[in-house]
Amino acid sequence: MFVAHLPAAYLVIRCARPNATPKLIAAVLAGSVLPDIDLLWFYLVDARQHHHHAYLPHKPVLWVLLGLAGWWRGSSVTIGVAAGAMLHLLLDSIVGQVTWGWPVTDWAAPLVVVPATRNWWVASFLLHWTFAIEIAICALAAVAWFTSGKRDQAALKRKNPRRWPRV
Ligand SMILES: [Zn+2]
Repeated sequence: MFVAHLPAAYLVIRCARPNATPKLIAAVLAGSVLPDIDLLWFYLVDARQHHHHAYLPHKPVLWVLLGLAGWWRGSSVTIGVAAGAMLHLLLDSIVGQVTWGWPVTDWAAPLVVVPATRNWWVASFLLHWTFAIEIAICALAAVAWFTSGKRDQAALKRKNPRRWPRV
């Protein structure tokens, strides 16, 4: 997945927890992009020798352990970060390889194989039908984002009508 990690996480948290606090929403959003921090290692240290999905931030077990630690400590923020990261890995599994059974096994296979139709691999992905789903997720998230402000404002008005002057 290229561009829809953050929008997908926003949609999921808004649907799963409509009354989520801004802190929890921020935690899930941060977690939804955190695994790709390994791109820094990929480009700056490893000189693109291994696919970045082979690095620890793209191993589900890391985020499961973080989620368990958050549950153990009663930290919803930590659980939110872990949940966002797990969503990232789930979405990466559609056209990418994520080793869900690591460290027991290194087996991984994408759900959908994107054929190399162009010389530049990015172009092959951008012109594949799966990218249209990413664009749809982005559009849905944008609609949810712009309408949520009005919904939240209406909910606040219902809760505390005296604070809102009638116009
Ligand atoms: Zn990723």
